[in-house]
Amino acid sequence: MTVTPAIEADVLRRQDPELADILLGERERQSTTLQLIAAENFCSPAVLAALGSPLANKYAEGYPGARHHGGCEVVDVAERIAVARARELFGAQHANVQSHSGSSAVLAAYAALLRPGDTVLALGLAYGGHLTHGSPANFSGRWFDFVGYGVDAETGLVDRDQVLTLARTRRPKAIVCGSTAYPRHIDYAFFREVADEVGAYLIADAAHPIGLVAGGAAPNPVPYADIVCATTHKVLRGPRGGMILCGADLAERVDRAVFPFTQGGAQMHTIAAKAVAFGEAATSAFAVYAHQVVTNARVLAAQLTAEGLVVTTGGTDTHLITADPSPLGVDGRTARGRLAAAGMVLDCCALPHGDTRGLRLGTAAVTTQGMGEGEMRKIAALLAAVLRGDVEPARAREEVRELAGGFPPYPR
Ligand SMILES: *Cc1c(COP(=O)(O)O)cnc(C)c1O
Repeated sequence: MTVTPAIEADVLRRQDPELADILLGERERQSTTLQLIAAENFCSPAVLAALGSPLANKYAEGYPGARHHGGCEVVDVAERIAVARARELFGAQHANVQSHSGSSAVLAAYAALLRPGDTVLALGLAYGGHLTHGSPANFSGRWFDFVGYGVDAETGLVDRDQVLTLARTRRPKAIVCGSTAYPRHIDYAFFREVADEVGAYLIADAAHPIGLVAGGAAPNPVPYADIVCATTHKVLRGPRGGMILCGADLAERVDRAVFPFTQGGAQMHTIAAKAVAFGEAATSAFAVYAHQVVTNARVLAAQLTAEGLVVTTGGTDTHLITADPSPLGVDGRTARGRLAAAGMVLDCCALPHGDTRGLRLGTAAVTTQGMGEGEMRKIAALLAAVLRGDVEPARAREEVRELAGGFPPYPR
């Protein structure tokens, strides 16, 4: 199976050995360490083939049938297929597949519904809200008046009373639900009710769970939210990019918010790759995958708890786990560094109490590799042993190399 045809054919190596070595080095890193970053996955060789295709050369401002460039008759078909597959997959009246990233999808959603200065209610950054949910370092925090709700310090669950109170007192123009680090299903019906009561739009930022939605392993926000923003590269396992789903009533506003308001030419190679990924996600094999991702995460969460870490909310409904490693004698940042040295790659994240940093991990990538419950138990045991100092990171690195070696992400 040719993953990087250019390297296999030695084209890149002959022309630019320096970069060829970097590509090979990254492939080596990905296949000999454990990718536990909750936002990462391994897209298929077919998706990579679309990404590395001559569609990358095509300029295509506008939408199929209404482009500002000539020669779009072939790529128009690719985009129409991507849109049709996304609509079908998620039961949406309209899909826009041009967003270059999850963040640009959120920017376009705001552009479609809001004016600068409007009040927006979203999960606070200290509790797992995304940069685009009001960070002062991001356009969202600069251009809108964000009000943050939180999670209960004990249960780690969304504080519904606070959502309701803030909605009633602050009267936001939009409410955002969705997070970078929330391990449980989001109750979209609840958020819809609150939004209706105060006359706000509901924006679901489903960047993380949208792949589980595709596989029938998580609730679908489409029937509830005015606009659903998503990424295509997380659990969904497509190319790096974004997507927006909405009803027919907002279709034109959303399309204009993406192009020409916030973006220029569409990336047609990525859009073709999105179409390929949507095709894969519609198969029964993908539904099996999505459910296995959750099963693996539940086993991993239970084993981490047994090893003494404090798993937020006591478990997970999704691919994502957040945990406090401090009972093992290390803080989140130290833990991440030690685990990186052991070849276990994961992130730090916010914890419900909001003051200390925890660990965030996910099972999307290792499940794509074919790992199951047995491997999750091994990973939890090794992770805890490294954090406790029972196993030197260098020793653990060899065990990780052996484990990963049995599950090559791109078998040849
Ligand atoms: C990942 C993520 C995004 C942004 O995705 P990018 O492609 O990195 O811009 C937006 N919102 C949430 C909740 C996310 O988890």
